[in-house]
Amino acid sequence: MSGFPTLFISHGAPTMALEDNETTRSWQALGRRFPQPRALLVISAHHHACAPTLTANSNPDTIHDFGGFANALYQLRYGAPGSAELAEEARQLLLTAGFDAAAVDPARGLDHGVWVPLRHMYPDADVPVVSLSVSPARDARWHFELGRALAPLRARGVLIIGSGGLTHNLGALDWHGSNAGTAVWAIAFVDWFLAKLRAQAIDDLLEWRQAAPEPRRNHPTSEHLLPVFVALGAARTGFSTSVTSAVFSHGSLALHGLEFA
Ligand code: ZN
Repeated sequence: MSGFPTLFISHGAPTMALEDNETTRSWQALGRRFPQPRALLVISAHHHACAPTLTANSNPDTIHDFGGFANALYQLRYGAPGSAELAEEARQLLLTAGFDAAAVDPARGLDHGVWVPLRHMYPDADVPVVSLSVSPARDARWHFELGRALAPLRARGVLIIGSGGLTHNLGALDWHGSNAGTAVWAIAFVDWFLAKLRAQAIDDLLEWRQAAPEPRRNHPTSEHLLPVFVALGAARTGFSTSVTSAVFSHGSLALHGLEFA
């Protein structure tokens, strides 16, 4: 193989860590599909920094960065090792590409955007994990270029995974299942995004704030969409898109998974 594909995962609510459903089973299938990676580089919607920042702790903590959930969720640990070596290798690629402030963080652990899906993908926690931040003040193109700089890692045994949400409006969630179905504005956004991916209309995707249907309703803030642009940037030129899961929950929350191969 000339290199791994890149992935985007919509990680959903923290409770997905303990659930068995169509989406978590799709994560398990992804973990079985590829040869064992040398390491995982996960761009998390919950890891924010002004400059691109990579975790560089050899034994990263499990961060329970959520409130109000059942106690069992706070007992979970994801014990994968980190990789200071990969963090530095990625930082060097970013510096070479002009991301002059790229940094490593030896203290930070893994937030739930990282460990919730990985708990299903790699339940043995035997693949080293490095988390890369997003910068919510930066736009989609900046994150795409970040991914481009990291693309050489695909051929070096690194599986690059963006973890966020294809739609993400927490204020609009239907927690009681009283809706008749999925919100039309969420379906329209996902349909638009998938159509642009299939057409490889990268410039349109990078202009999503202006071009997509109801962008602010689907993403009042952009941090859950930004990881997809890193995964896109890191993908093979001329990639093809596969949808690895296509479920909505809570009336408007897209749990879609994407593979760029
Ligand atoms: Zn999230």
